[in-house]
Amino acid sequence: MRDAAPNSWEARADRNSFYGFTDLPTIHERGAVIVTHGKGPYIFDTYGRQYLDANSGLWNMVAGFDHPGLIETAQKQYSTLPGYHAFFGRMSDQTVMLSEKLSEVSPFERAKVFYTNSGSEANDTMVKMLWFLHAAEGKPQKRKILTRLNAYHGVTAVSASMTGKPYNSVFGLPLPGFLHLSCPHYWRNGNPGETEAQFTARMAAELEATIIKEGADTIAGFFAEPVMGAGGVIVPSEGYFQAIVPILRKYDIPMISDEVITGFGRTGNTWGCETFDFMPDAIISSKNLTAGFFPMGAVILGPELADRMDAAAEAIEEFPHGFTASGHPVGCAIALKAIDVVMNEGLAENVRRLTPRFEAGMARLAEHRNIGEWRGKGLMGALEAVRDKDTKTPFDGSLSVSERIANSCTDHGLICRPLGQAVVLCPPFIMTDDQMDEMFDKLGNALEEVFAEVG
Ligand SMILES: *Cc1c(COP(=O)(O)O)cnc(C)c1O
Repeated sequence: MRDAAPNSWEARADRNSFYGFTDLPTIHERGAVIVTHGKGPYIFDTYGRQYLDANSGLWNMVAGFDHPGLIETAQKQYSTLPGYHAFFGRMSDQTVMLSEKLSEVSPFERAKVFYTNSGSEANDTMVKMLWFLHAAEGKPQKRKILTRLNAYHGVTAVSASMTGKPYNSVFGLPLPGFLHLSCPHYWRNGNPGETEAQFTARMAAELEATIIKEGADTIAGFFAEPVMGAGGVIVPSEGYFQAIVPILRKYDIPMISDEVITGFGRTGNTWGCETFDFMPDAIISSKNLTAGFFPMGAVILGPELADRMDAAAEAIEEFPHGFTASGHPVGCAIALKAIDVVMNEGLAENVRRLTPRFEAGMARLAEHRNIGEWRGKGLMGALEAVRDKDTKTPFDGSLSVSERIANSCTDHGLICRPLGQAVVLCPPFIMTDDQMDEMFDKLGNALEEVFAEVG
């Protein structure tokens, strides 16, 4: 509960910090949690209270909050070259090395990389690249962007337009030319009597019908997360990517895999497109790229788009785009280390080792009569609360069920995230078995407590 004193951390946060993506009634009642430091997968607040962060910060702190190798790498780079840009034919040695590394670990036989400060900017940059490319190739009208309802691609004006969430209407978004296809969530969106295979075929047919209706020559690209993260950990229906990728190929529409969450191990492989067995034309990376130790995003172009972009830029002698901190040497040094830590120090392996335990824990909680389904892949999952399991009827929105569950978890020292009527878990890759058991015990207690009140 909040400390109401005017000099409390809660009051000071209220006074001068403007909250984003924060439920204001909850803040008025409880106050913000002010975090001072972390240890492994735990964070600590100004009261000295300890929380197991089952969300890895915001999906990104996969190596925990005090990884010594990452801290040392940052300190070393700060004392060598604490900042530089990547304009005018200059860039840091760390930037060169990170691009080589990303090319090597990408699913592409070769790749070219462009850096941003965030995932939103990486998606924004990719859209500008596609507009630039198609115009240079004589198709200036090939500009529309296809994504899906419930997709999350970020918050800049363009990436928010790609995001398929109703809240963006408060900004008068999406911008014209950003189209949202149906969300491939079979459990929620399947028609009565429809098999999963029929549902997948319906999603693919919708894509093709949309392309024909709009005209393939007006569509710049299609973006998809392998697993929708902020949409509620939605795993696409079986065979989804195998059904849609050939359609995109047939109509010459670039396919971009937004791997801001799924990149670097979250689903059990380096990339989500490996887990779901499809080959995109480009990959968007951020979040895990630096294990959350530095704000950074990357556009990773596969060979065909890289060559076409090279040709398009050559034609006008420049690609007029870049951020002041694109390819920041400290970010690049940290990313190089983070990739090494995840891939070679046992973290990726730990994701694969923990996944059965995670799935078993989720399945056990999903037995509750107020959990409609659990879904997930690797170490990302969600539990969907329902009033009636058979009819999949949600709780009345005014009950704020998922917020109540998350708040009860916070009271018991566990951070997890409410998303719609679901609760999302995406533990850091360093978790131990005991910490995972702690997570499920605390969440199980919170579910019992809240469902006893509202169920
Ligand atoms: C978080 C996220 C983004 C946006 O990244 P920011 O760094 O918050 O701008 C884009 N795409 C996906 C899939 C994300 O999860």
